[in-house]
Amino acid sequence: MPHWSTLIREIPDFPKPGIVFKDITPLLADARAFAGAIDAMAAPWRDQVPDAFVGIESRGFIFAAVLAHALGAGFVPARKPGKLPAQVLVHDYALEYGSDRLEMHTDALKPGARVVLVDDVLATGGTLRAALSLARLQGATVIGAAVLVELPALGGRARWDADAPLHVALQG
Ligand code: 5GP
Repeated sequence: MPHWSTLIREIPDFPKPGIVFKDITPLLADARAFAGAIDAMAAPWRDQVPDAFVGIESRGFIFAAVLAHALGAGFVPARKPGKLPAQVLVHDYALEYGSDRLEMHTDALKPGARVVLVDDVLATGGTLRAALSLARLQGATVIGAAVLVELPALGGRARWDADAPLHVALQG
């Protein structure tokens, strides 16, 4: 188990009763742990640096921006509804109860741009799937995804239907 993983704590009944939330804020606050987590997420992309890392709001931003800087790539945000100022592409997706939406600027990615999608946690996979659809809609080539923690019991990997690697730094 990597040393940084001990700084991810579990918060029961957040944000709703019955959910055990992985809280990554202690990891982020620790310089060595944060660097170790970034190193683990960056490793697969060092010899195939994408044009951009697409960060999913909001914790995906943290990791995608640092990966972009560390590897010399761009950063593109995939955001919650109503946050982006220019014209957007929209993807709605189902949650266990209700639905959610992700948006990207229509001109965020050039056709053929090679991108890696980034988030902190893969749970049911709906969020990553939405980002995948938005990147593909723009004609980008998704060369993979980088996720800090996968929760295998929630089956998110099955919804990753790209012919590209889904790299997780930790299964928890
Ligand atoms: P999914 O769409 O895969 O069900 O949920 C993943 C999204 O919800 C990610 O954007 C992630 O940030 C957030 N998420 C779901 N569960 C957790 C959790 O336990 N901890 C954290 N930090 N984020 C979570």
